[in-house]
Amino acid sequence: MNGKTNTEESALLALQRIHQRIDAAIKSASRPAGSVHLLAVSKTFAAPNIVAMADAGQQSFGENYLQEALDKQAAIHNERPDLKLEWHFIGPVQSNKTRPIAENFDWVHTVEREKVATRLNDQRPDNAAPLNVCIQINIDGAPSKSGCLPDQVQTLAIAICALPRLRLRGLMAIPDPSDNPDQQHQAFAAVREQLNQLRNSLATQGINSGAVDTLSMGMTADLEAAIAEGATIVRIGTALFGQRTKPAP
Ligand SMILES: *Cc1c(COP(=O)(O)O)cnc(C)c1O
Repeated sequence: MNGKTNTEESALLALQRIHQRIDAAIKSASRPAGSVHLLAVSKTFAAPNIVAMADAGQQSFGENYLQEALDKQAAIHNERPDLKLEWHFIGPVQSNKTRPIAENFDWVHTVEREKVATRLNDQRPDNAAPLNVCIQINIDGAPSKSGCLPDQVQTLAIAICALPRLRLRGLMAIPDPSDNPDQQHQAFAAVREQLNQLRNSLATQGINSGAVDTLSMGMTADLEAAIAEGATIVRIGTALFGQRTKPAP
């Protein structure tokens, strides 16, 4: 026996498998090794699952539900103060809940309104590094979906770039799920095109777009298409932690 528990063993295996998938996708896209960051989406999974994944080598974790995330962060900090984890908020942001997000996360992927950006900026503690933010874009344009519409991205981006406690990093998208690889590719390519346009228009206005380098896109079912189209962060839940059985709170 090597002293590992079942949870630790399976965390390590799941992590190795997902890295194999990511590396194969990077290779077939002829992209540089290491150009895609793995974000482990731990929503609905308990603190010990996160600790096991951290002990297997994973450092970045994504959470969707604020209270659930804060509870788990506190439990992990208590039990394992040695772990230095990077926390990404990837759920809808309510404007009256921005303070604990600004105080307890390193990234927010789901900024879609200037009001939320301003509050996150004002509430980001002075002793913390600027908060990394992505603008969530509604790439399909369906009115019921989260994210700002493509024609609103530039205005929001310019507003964010003027906020000193935020650091605009790029775009995040959750395209409509599709089993059709062509459709997956088309949606992700459209997000990439939006990021290119945004970088160009920021540069035209004399705004330094050097840090605007992130495409947060691709989940368990479509990470290959996302990486082929330029994803720099893939957000993976099911393939790492298994099927979610608990409903969203
Ligand atoms: C749940 C979730 C994921 C992970 O999805 P899987 O299909 O389980 O990999 C990624 N991004 C967001 C925004 C999510 O809510």
